[in-house]
Amino acid sequence: MKIQKLAVLFVVATLSACAQVPKQATVFHYATIDALLAGAYEGELTVDELKRKGDFGIGTFNRVDGEMIVLDGDVFQFKADGTVAKASGGQFTPFAVVTSFKADNRYEVSKETSMKELEDMLDERLVNKNLFYAIRVDGEFKQLTTRAISPQDKPYKPLAEVTKTQTLFNFSNTRGTLVAFRSPGFAKGFNVPGYHWHYLSDDRKAGGHVLALSLSQGAIKVGAASDIEIKLPANSMFANTNQTVDRATELKAVEKLRKD
Ligand SMILES: [Zn+2]
Repeated sequence: MKIQKLAVLFVVATLSACAQVPKQATVFHYATIDALLAGAYEGELTVDELKRKGDFGIGTFNRVDGEMIVLDGDVFQFKADGTVAKASGGQFTPFAVVTSFKADNRYEVSKETSMKELEDMLDERLVNKNLFYAIRVDGEFKQLTTRAISPQDKPYKPLAEVTKTQTLFNFSNTRGTLVAFRSPGFAKGFNVPGYHWHYLSDDRKAGGHVLALSLSQGAIKVGAASDIEIKLPANSMFANTNQTVDRATELKAVEKLRKD
């Protein structure tokens, strides 16, 4: 009986040691991933307004003109023509996720690691899968595949159609930063459940939405967030977007590397 009691106490102690106590970090969302999937490519939030909500994050620009990377308070635009530029404060986003980055935990990677291995490794360490996590990886990449989307014209097609024409980029031996979030399963609808990785190179010449990678070595910082804020566009495009359907299959097609 005494042994059983001790065993129970040990389990409780282990659980409380593992439970990550999040700081009061907030993940700010503008619009919803389902609206973006449906083709609502015009938002009313400016880059300057977004910057007030966080210094780290990902998203896109109106007309899905390239991929957004928010790093150390700067907002970058990686376009489908392969160029990187600092976004101007007046540019608009139809979808973005940012936070004020604070690292709770740090890990090192010293052997070649694929995207799947990186996600598996993080999954082992992130005990509470029902929190949001901001993930920053500064490192050297043997190989990195990204995509960017060209600016779209009205009438906008759904994102799963548009990504069929996405431009793929393969970078070798590149140094830079992965900017990512891991969102819980219940975030489906307004954010991407699981991992969503964007990249920006140190020389600010490469970037994009990451489809595959091979990390040679790197430093990982992870910050948990228990607070979320969602700002919805007030425009008619968002109002008239059907967000009653399940877009999980479309999201999978959009987020992953297309084989066809
Ligand atoms: Zn993305």
